[in-house]
Amino acid sequence: MKFKQLVVLFIFIVLAGSFSACAKRSQEPSRMKKLKVITTIFPLYDMARNIGADKAEVSLLLTPGVEAHSFEPKPSDIVKINEADVFVYTGKFMEPWAEDVIRGAVNKNLIVVDASLGIKVIPVVFHDADEPAGLPDPHIWLDFDNAKIMVKNIAQAFQLKDSADRDFYEKKANDYSNKLTGLDTLYKTTLATCKDKEIVYGGHYAFGYLARRYGLKYLAAQGVSPDSEPTANDLVRLVEQIKKNKIRYIFYEELTSSKIAETIAGETNAKMLLLNAAHNLSRDQFDQGLSFFDILKRDLENLRVGLECK
Ligand SMILES: [Zn+2]
Repeated sequence: MKFKQLVVLFIFIVLAGSFSACAKRSQEPSRMKKLKVITTIFPLYDMARNIGADKAEVSLLLTPGVEAHSFEPKPSDIVKINEADVFVYTGKFMEPWAEDVIRGAVNKNLIVVDASLGIKVIPVVFHDADEPAGLPDPHIWLDFDNAKIMVKNIAQAFQLKDSADRDFYEKKANDYSNKLTGLDTLYKTTLATCKDKEIVYGGHYAFGYLARRYGLKYLAAQGVSPDSEPTANDLVRLVEQIKKNKIRYIFYEELTSSKIAETIAGETNAKMLLLNAAHNLSRDQFDQGLSFFDILKRDLENLRVGLECK
């Protein structure tokens, strides 16, 4: 057999194989077909996989370990979004690239969920020299009432796409919301007992919603995005605050360098504790199957130590 014939034969075998796979898929009853869902950041992924359970195939657009604010979709990401039934993003302030992708979507059956719909986005209190004042704070999931609205928005999209399983999604969404209520109560009761009421953060401004909800003060070294460099003045201000208020712990953020927190800790003898805003997981955490609740409970343990709560 000549080479050309071999190639033709090979292509035929591959095509025949994929046709029979297609035929098999189309023979499956439609109730077996899972909703294909793609989410941008980790909290949305965790919500969607719990609401969809075994009726949805949920994937996270961000590769584990990637910093969320500097993420830009590659052409292959745009293909993935177009192949989905449902695309969930946080909102235009967290994913400024999303609106263009949605406008350009060729899949006209795609249901797009702006999870921030119905949520009051609050401006940041602190801003650094690189950012204009009063920028909207995109970290809406760190207020657990907002997280409940996000859960509702996702569930509604699932119900729209798969109306036969309406009650199933409703129940799963309620279960998740009840867990958020439990987490909120745990935060409220714990943080009400703290001796210190100020979170000093050697990272970007991510915990504004959380601090506000539980009556804490929040001081961050950077603005709403981790790529903004803190100025020397910002650092001096933080160091002075720590010394003045005899603060013993400084919190640092996940996934990006903890250099800023280390510098401040070095100047003040403060100890360092992780406060993870859950934008994304590391590869290890992802492989371990960590949940949003796992991360936020660990955060509360660190807050308990750092703010001297009971
Ligand atoms: Zn952030």
